[in-house]
Amino acid sequence: MKVDWRTVGAFQENSYLVVDPVTRRAVLVDPGAEAEQLIEMVRASGATLDAIWLTHAHIDHIGAIAGVKRAWDVPIYLHPADQPLYERGAMQAAVYGLAFEQPPAPDHELAEGDVVSVGSLDFDVLHVPGHAPGHVAFVRQGCMLGGDLLFAGSIGRTDLPLSDPERMTESLERVAALPEETLVYPGHGPATSIGQERATNPFLTGVARVVRR
Ligand SMILES: [Zn+2]
Ligand SMILES: [Zn+2]
Repeated sequence: MKVDWRTVGAFQENSYLVVDPVTRRAVLVDPGAEAEQLIEMVRASGATLDAIWLTHAHIDHIGAIAGVKRAWDVPIYLHPADQPLYERGAMQAAVYGLAFEQPPAPDHELAEGDVVSVGSLDFDVLHVPGHAPGHVAFVRQGCMLGGDLLFAGSIGRTDLPLSDPERMTESLERVAALPEETLVYPGHGPATSIGQERATNPFLTGVARVVRR
């Protein structure tokens, strides 16, 4: 598996390109902004884009979908619990005073336990709400595309509309139980690993908790 990314837009969001080198098929995860850069990344990979997978529907993760869809009309995958956020994309953007092009409706609903594939690579879909109600992580052996669930040294915000701190705690406990060698590709900031975060992230070590109990 090959993972490439670009850090894009006002929120410095990481948009990932996952390529199966065997079949040369690819998916874009969270095309957040700067569609031209992402299109260039796909072209440079030499792979065929099959789909757009979304960890959640905050505007910094969906802002380049419309532009990418004009280059390749590939299906969009989203958990239905984030549909309300998705539909309010333009409204979210107006709050921040950002230019935003509303993407077309999602094509496929993601659910807990789904297996999604790019070429010969299978990923388990984990529904990990908290930061957003329909937040998912894409997990396969050794790797997690985790969106805004877990960052190097931090976690996603839980004070946003439709966030839920208590469910965030449960979701973090779930991914903290993944094998420690699992690489984490987060929605913002540098890549890390479950082992590294379990050892040092104050939200996983118990130094800081989303919900005290
Ligand atoms: Zn987010
Ligand atoms: Zn984000």
